[in-house]
Amino acid sequence: MTHKRSFRSICVQEIKENRTTPPHQLPIYATSSFSFDDIDQSIDIFTGKTEGHVYSRYANPTIDSVARKIAALEAYETGKEAYAYLTSSGMSAISSVVISLLQEGDIMLTQGNLYGGTTELFQKVVSSWGIQTIFKDFGDLEAVETTIQEHPKIKMIYLETPANPTLACVDLERITLLARKYKIYTVIDNTFSTPYLQRPFQYDVDVVIHSSTKFLNGHGNSISGVVVSWRPELRKRLWEVIKLVGTNSNAWDAWLLNNGLKTLTIRMDKHCENALALAHFLENHPKVNKVNYIGLKSHAHHDIATKQMKGYGGMLSFEVGGTMAQAKLFINRLTMITMAPTLGDVDSLVLHPASSSHLNVPRDMRILNGISDNLVRLSVGIEDFDDIKNDINQALESI
Ligand SMILES: *Cc1c(COP(=O)(O)O)cnc(C)c1O
Repeated sequence: MTHKRSFRSICVQEIKENRTTPPHQLPIYATSSFSFDDIDQSIDIFTGKTEGHVYSRYANPTIDSVARKIAALEAYETGKEAYAYLTSSGMSAISSVVISLLQEGDIMLTQGNLYGGTTELFQKVVSSWGIQTIFKDFGDLEAVETTIQEHPKIKMIYLETPANPTLACVDLERITLLARKYKIYTVIDNTFSTPYLQRPFQYDVDVVIHSSTKFLNGHGNSISGVVVSWRPELRKRLWEVIKLVGTNSNAWDAWLLNNGLKTLTIRMDKHCENALALAHFLENHPKVNKVNYIGLKSHAHHDIATKQMKGYGGMLSFEVGGTMAQAKLFINRLTMITMAPTLGDVDSLVLHPASSSHLNVPRDMRILNGISDNLVRLSVGIEDFDDIKNDINQALESI
């Protein structure tokens, strides 16, 4: 006779639902672990004899499904098979890659104009692991090669193209050729472009990372990151580090990211269209001194961008008037565009780099990198172009 369970136990136990049809949409697997039918199945899964989920820090069906989609997007038409791991943030994607590929005594070579948090990570955290970072201008590849020859401990080149907020680009074909010659790993932050506009695996870049908080999600409602690679020999190591350092994502954020990805192409098309039209408008505005947009022929890296990207993206920056006070006044006068320290959302966002993202960069170094006191960064949204233009125009006219 089966023992009748108590009220208390019925509350506690899961009722296993017998699904007869699969869900049309990706379910959120809100579970820390997975249960086994018997000890033999457990042993087979733990020893890797059969595939199966164990614990959500290792893998989770919701997370895996989204990771597989991003891997397919990055590998698209590159002739490569890629794999991906979702992480808790863009920053944890970067730190997981550094921990995976480098060890004490190694040197990383990178550019001066990285995302602010990345520069801080390398200078304040990675340096304390005994890993040195050398910052170089990747526009001068001869100087880069000399640096590589002088430092045989350089094991990794870390790239960001286009870079924040001046949209400076690195020639991926040339830098990866150099890296291969010296057997150095290449890692790229592809956040600004997304795989829709730029697929670095075409140039054999080894690892791509994203802050999927930005364009990949597009709706500004979660923080997440992703590590993507096509190198089979790196797979085990990357997974081990993400699993053991615990930098993996969670099912809820993965699910939000999955929703965002469905509209990636139509969002990016509109971001590109609006940003290009706005760049042309700003270029001819008397209150604007300089416009940084890679879709403009006046941008120093327009040709590089045209070669390696399918579109010029939704990010631009421009100098308002001549002083910081004018730039600040301009931002305060905007009525539709929101001031927020993120980018890649569906709505237009403005930021003043000198007083926010680049506040801790010494003024002379900041100006040397093209980030003047009156520079304003815009993440151009997918609203109607006229509404974006009119808001910017009335704010410019009022200063
Ligand atoms: C936002 C951002 C990051 C950091 O990502 P988080 O998701 O905030 O951790 C890294 N690189 C770029 C280019 C970014 O814009």
